[in-house]
Amino acid sequence: MIRLPEFRYYRPKTLKEAVKILNSEGEKAVIVAGGTDLFPNMKRRIQTPSVLVSLQQVKELHRKISYTKINGDQEKRLVIPSGLTLSEVCENRLIRENYPFISKTTSSIATPLIRSMGTIGGNLCLDTRCTYYNQSLEWRESVDFCMKAPEGKLDIPCRVAPGSPRCVAANSSDTAPLFCALEAEFHIVSQEGERTIKPAEFYREDGEFYLNKKAEEILSEITLPSSENLHAVYLKLRRRGSFDFPVLGAAAVLKMTGQKVKEAKIFLNAVSSAPIEVLESEKALIGTELEEEKILEAAESARQSAKPFDNTDFYPHWRKEMVGVLLKRALLELKSRKT
Ligand SMILES: Cc1cc2nc3c(=O)[nH]c(=O)nc-3n(C[C@H](O)[C@H](O)[C@H](O)COP(=O)(O)OP(=O)(O)OC[C@H]3O[C@@H](n4cnc5c(N)ncnc54)[C@H](O)[C@@H]3O)c2cc1C
Repeated sequence: MIRLPEFRYYRPKTLKEAVKILNSEGEKAVIVAGGTDLFPNMKRRIQTPSVLVSLQQVKELHRKISYTKINGDQEKRLVIPSGLTLSEVCENRLIRENYPFISKTTSSIATPLIRSMGTIGGNLCLDTRCTYYNQSLEWRESVDFCMKAPEGKLDIPCRVAPGSPRCVAANSSDTAPLFCALEAEFHIVSQEGERTIKPAEFYREDGEFYLNKKAEEILSEITLPSSENLHAVYLKLRRRGSFDFPVLGAAAVLKMTGQKVKEAKIFLNAVSSAPIEVLESEKALIGTELEEEKILEAAESARQSAKPFDNTDFYPHWRKEMVGVLLKRALLELKSRKT
């Protein structure tokens, strides 16, 4: 049995209390929600925080999924509190009826047991992954660690791309590319107040410092766009269909006017440290009726633009080929639903 390292543990009951603790403990404190990623990482000494601030009892983060009114009564938007488990999000009636693609995506994460513990907030803030990082302490010691090393180990090159000035660990959250493509809003709370950020700006192209967020900031809730005329899908590639992290994911969100694509958002994950937007594929689809040649054009643009690293399961050149295949499948699925 691998034991957890020692740490101090706080269990605040309100957001106000949580941000106060995080603010006073500073850099040494780490947020824990379900702990399904953080605790295994701590056991392997990948992360060794001396203070943990649990969000499990914070009541504001466990409210029901409900509509909020924006601009007076003009618009109604669905809000998901970040502390809800993946199972709660997946099984929620409002999500199932209006955003079935979110239910499907969350149900593809890990296993039922992990989904009943792991939260949507934890999934959106998930640490990046790499074959040189997600290993035991002994394994990592044997290769003298990597750039995303434990504290105090400096000037170690990236083992995957030795010339790279930054860590290339991959974004492996299944919900991140979908929420980017949906252009949802993330609400962030800290002692300094509240701010809102678009998911595409929340993620950084840096495997080590992968979020545009300070350590003491809490992702409190996610506001979804209106589901009207919205067609979305997320497909993931993984070795085992039963459960596995994505080695590639493709999210496509289309806003339609009649049969025509008015807006398109395409994001890939697991091929980079942040979900990557594929502008060329989006351009190929706008104004079309998802004719097959346009789908193939969009898929080929995505294939060309993707540059997966050799830092996860499967060969990178095969994953690159699969980018086109996966996006083509995703868009054909949308086309078949539309007609
Ligand atoms: C066997 C196994 C399989 C898995 N498969 C998948 C998979 O297929 N796809 C996938 O995406 N994930 C997978 N995971 C990873 C993980 O279980 C999920 O991503 C889960 O949703 C993480 O949520 P959590 O609440 O447990 O996060 P935690 O482990 O508690 O936290 C994860 C990170 O997010 C931060 N954090 C958590 N909540 C917040 C918040 N509200 N605000 C700010 N920061 C926060 C933490 O500080 C930590 O850095 C798997 C894990 C295991 C063990």
